[in-house]
Order: sequence, then structure tokens, then C-alpha cells
Amino acid sequence: MSQNGTPLENQGYSRPALAERRPTRRIQVGSVAIGAGAPVSVQSMTTTKTADVEGTLAQIYDLAAAGADIVRCTCNEAEAAEGLAHIVPRSPVPIVADIHFHHEMALAALEAGVQALRLNPGNLRKPEEIKMVAREAKDRGVPIRIGVNAGSLHPDLYRRFGGATPEALVESARMELAYFEEVGFEDVKISVKASSVSLMVAAYRLASASFDYPLHLGVTEAGPPPSGLVKATAGIATLLCEGIGDTIRFSLTADPVEEAVAGRQLLEALGLRERRDIDLIACPSCGRAEIDVIGVAKAAQSALEGRNLPIQVAVMGCVVNGPGEARHADLGIAAGRHRGHLFIRGKIVRVVPEDQMVEALVEEAERLVAEGVDARLAAADENAAAEAEADRRALLDAKGADANRAGQRVEMIRKAVTGEP
Ligand code: SF4
Repeated sequence: MSQNGTPLENQGYSRPALAERRPTRRIQVGSVAIGAGAPVSVQSMTTTKTADVEGTLAQIYDLAAAGADIVRCTCNEAEAAEGLAHIVPRSPVPIVADIHFHHEMALAALEAGVQALRLNPGNLRKPEEIKMVAREAKDRGVPIRIGVNAGSLHPDLYRRFGGATPEALVESARMELAYFEEVGFEDVKISVKASSVSLMVAAYRLASASFDYPLHLGVTEAGPPPSGLVKATAGIATLLCEGIGDTIRFSLTADPVEEAVAGRQLLEALGLRERRDIDLIACPSCGRAEIDVIGVAKAAQSALEGRNLPIQVAVMGCVVNGPGEARHADLGIAAGRHRGHLFIRGKIVRVVPEDQMVEALVEEAERLVAEGVDARLAAADENAAAEAEADRRALLDAKGADANRAGQRVEMIRKAVTGEP
């Protein structure tokens, strides 16, 4: 929305609804609700030593600024638990302690005040220890994620199911739940991650059909971008489009800020979270392009992002097709004859020199968000449309409306087929 209340995003551009969100129970991780229709949340994990309080807090602040709603920190030793006691009260977002192997670390993290635990049933296996942690979490009102991972599945399950199958992953979660239920603990969310996208998707579909607990989605060990981004997006987006998933994490081999950005951007792209920053679209460029589209799009992206401008902005390589093809964008610019045609929802509002295109986009984006579409259309330069049309006509005349010479080609093919001279 603009500050004067005019809806800005994708007006006149229909967005088919995703599958209805699967109904689940709701849990509360500190201030963040998960499940039962709560907004899908973004998670990430720190890479610092948790005992390094200042370093970890700095990373948590960076992650929160990049879009993380919840941050997980490892709690692998007593010093880490002590670090958490200092980190939790100063963190801008709820903190989840990641526990492997040692149930005492779960108890210590609870003592440190974390807002949630993640337990891996594959490596925390003694029923009495699991129940002890669940009892303590119950007393403190702290939820637990049952974090099943195909790579660390319990060996018995691996043997029983002949490998890390979707059924084996879901059974691992079911066994852990049974221990929790013995002590009356139901404050749970579940993940069944795998590094294989198809296995992960199948496991979550089965988990969704089996449980009504909220699901935490992720493709584990997705790897470095861009392939890691592609894998994580393929798995998480497939499930979200089916209405499955209540909180997500991109597990990238990269600065965790990239995970938070990717998570946030995916939710915005799917319309599952309100857009809070720019959505830059650009044509892929072609032989008609009048500028270096890649360079201008990159310059526009870096000039516009981080300004809290929740609008869609288009960078188009030519004025012949650009404004029409991007008419659904809130704002755009198309290049032609060393000038940029600035348009709002497809209507030309200004013509600027080519070297001022990015600057003009930023200025108009700020004003569009502040003043609204109607006000900015009313303030359009009255000569802009005619100037733009003159540029467009001149380009069409110079290059031919039929840039690919399709008509000529068809004529030649006909002659070749019929043998006409
Ligand atoms: S907008 Fe113009 S330059 Fe860009 S892909 Fe379309 S025809 Fe080519």
C-alpha cells in the first residue's frame, strides 16, 4: 500500500490462489505464531560459535534485518548454553536451540531461556532422556521441533524400511511423538528433511497427511548457491503451493543472510507474506535491446533494494515491446534511442536521458510509494507520451515492425515448397 492507501502491488494483474493452507495446530515460538493460518515464517541459523555472544548477536541482528523471523543457534556444549543465556534476552527474534546427541544440552538451553528446541530423533535416542526433555519443555511452555533428517535416520528405521524412505522419515517423527505423548507434551512442530528434493517432497506430503502438527520445511544440505537455491526453492515452493508448510528454512552453504533473504523473497513471490521491498522484474534482453539490460537491471536492483519500497519495478530493453509487456508493473523503464521511457502501470509519464534511467527510477519509485499511483499519473509530463511514441515509431521504421522478418521468411518458404521463382 502507498502511504495514501492506494494499493500498489500487482494491481490489475490477477494472482491465482495457491492451494488452501492445510489446517494445523498452532504453536508459539516466543512472539512468532506457527501453524493454524499464521503467516509462514522464515528461519535461519547462525554460523558463529554460540559461546561468542557478541558475534552471534551481530549475526542474529543481520538475519532479522534480512527477513528471518526466528533464528536457531547450536547448543553443543556448556559454553554455548551459557552464551544463550546472554543472547536470548538481547535477541530481536525468538531463539531456537539446536540439540544433537546430548539431552543435557537441551535442559541447559531451556534453563538459558530459549523460546524453542530442535531435537534430532536420529541421534538423541534414549526414551527416558527424550521424555525428561519433553517434561521440562512442557513445564516451561517451550515448543519442540522434531527435526528428522534423512542423513541421520535411526539405524533401526533405516534397516526396517530399506533406506531413508518417506515412510521411514515419518515413522521417526511418529516414534518421537509417542514419547512426547506419554508425558502429555503436544507443543510440537515437525520437519522431515532430506537433501533429495523428491524424497523431501514425498516425506512432507506423507507427514502432512499423517499429522496435524505444523511443519517446518527445508531441503537439508542444499549446498551453495545457485544450485542450493534452486534445490531448496524447488522443494519448499512445491509444498507451499500445495498448502503444506508453516515455517521454512533455506539450508544454504553461504552467509546465512542469504538464507533469510531467499526465504523472505520466496514467500513474497508466492504471495504468502506481504512484500516489504522491491520486486524487480526485467526482460531477458534480445536483439532488439537498446541498452545493456543486465547491467541496468543490476544497477536498478542495488539502487532500489533496502529502501522499503514494496512495489514491482520493470527494466525493459526496448520501447517497442517494453511498456506493453510490463504494463502490470507498478513502475518501469524501457530504453530507446538513448532515452528511457518511464511508465506507471504501462502509461508513459516521463522521458529521460539514458544515463539517468536508474536515478529516475529511484526518484519515481520513492514518490510513487509516498504519493500513490493516481497522484503520480496526474503529475505526468504532458509531452512524454508523444515523445515516447515518436521514439517508438522511429525505431519501428528503422528496424521494421517485423524484426524477425517472419513475413519475408514465410514467402521464401512458400517459394521453396511450390518451386515458384
Ligand atoms: S522488451 Fe524488447 S529488448 Fe527486452 S526481450 Fe522484449 S523485445 Fe527484447
